[in-house]
Amino acid sequence: MIKTRFAPSPTGFLHMGGARTALFSWLYARKHEGKFLLRIEDTDLQRSRQEYIEEILTSLKWLGIDWDEIVYQSQRFSLYQEYAQKLKQKGLAYEKEGAVFFKYNFNQIEVEDLIRGKIVFKELPKPEDVIIKSDGSPAYNFCCVIDDALLGITHVIRGEDHISNTPKQILLYKALEFDVPFFAHLPLILSPGGGRMSKRFGATAISEYRRQGYLPQALVNFLLLLGWSPGDNQEIFSLDLAQDRFELKDVNKSGAKFLLDKLDWLNAYYIKSASPQELLGPAREILEEAGVISEVSDEYLCRVIKLFQGRINRLSDLVEWAAFCFRDDVVYESDEKTRKILANKKKLEEIELLRQNISRVENFCATEIESAFRKTSEALEVKLKDLVHPVRIALTGRRIGPGLFETIEVLGKEKTLRRIENLLNYWRQNND
Ligand code: GLU
Repeated sequence: MIKTRFAPSPTGFLHMGGARTALFSWLYARKHEGKFLLRIEDTDLQRSRQEYIEEILTSLKWLGIDWDEIVYQSQRFSLYQEYAQKLKQKGLAYEKEGAVFFKYNFNQIEVEDLIRGKIVFKELPKPEDVIIKSDGSPAYNFCCVIDDALLGITHVIRGEDHISNTPKQILLYKALEFDVPFFAHLPLILSPGGGRMSKRFGATAISEYRRQGYLPQALVNFLLLLGWSPGDNQEIFSLDLAQDRFELKDVNKSGAKFLLDKLDWLNAYYIKSASPQELLGPAREILEEAGVISEVSDEYLCRVIKLFQGRINRLSDLVEWAAFCFRDDVVYESDEKTRKILANKKKLEEIELLRQNISRVENFCATEIESAFRKTSEALEVKLKDLVHPVRIALTGRRIGPGLFETIEVLGKEKTLRRIENLLNYWRQNND
């Protein structure tokens, strides 16, 4: 049976690179009805932190990646000592200054990487390698091999940055008389310019993307396309679909560019396609966190989400764009165009009539509200947009926003009439 693993070191949060490794390993196991192991590589007791472990687990779950088993290397130190002892007995390891070293004779090593094909290692820098450090903690290559072997890992899927560790690990497999697993090294993730990733491009924690209003479906889809080319032009992939289609041979060898616009595009797509109810939880979290809402009913929030979901890239865009739906006062924007519309007091009587017509609408829905606007514009012989612009500012404070009639429906009659009245008063007071 196929068994893969994801082996994060909890010395930092889960980033895009780690999440992609986890996803590809998980997919491979799930596709083959195998098992997926999570191994927390917390051997560095100084730098490993509980807070990071929690973030890693929470973020994986949020992405939809589950595991059949979890082990912590910090609980397996005696096991590593035992195997170091075995190597010593075989004369393959020795102690020096409190540390244990593995010594080897190196001949050329060839690895048939499932993504990159044959990789030939002609030499290694040193004829020995530390396996147990002087503080008693195991070195990465050593405990990685012991665990991968004892936990039955058949396929080691990890980032390209670990290629140079592979020959050292193979020597250890052989010395310990373990079967060597298959290896698959995923391409590096590069910045849009082709250079190494920086904070701006992907070195952001997954939990931070969540806070910024990205949906897990969008992130998963984005991660899938970071190095995997399914062969046609399809770009939208759910986890289920990806499970069907994923093959290691379709993973690229060359670096995968991290394009934030692509993530935004995918996120906008998933926000648009979701039902408002699905977005309710995450939207509420973000709006509450930002102090935009405190006690808002699910029903009202759903209506607001529906109004905006077709025009935002991230749920956090609601903080700025939808704030007017939740507050009593409207702050008029101070840009030149808005000021120009606000300065046009000649509209007072027109908007007054419009307000009356809106107040007469009984079935307060977008279509009826639109008829009230049309009726008014015909009666006054003015263009519809000349009514729409000032009313939009009266209701939202801005010149741009979702469809005005839908916005009015969401705000409801009372708020709408009050806000229009406020604009009329503003004109009356500034009527010199
Ligand atoms: N703890 C290592 C890392 O986070 C795991 C490497 C591996 O998958 O073998 O990079």
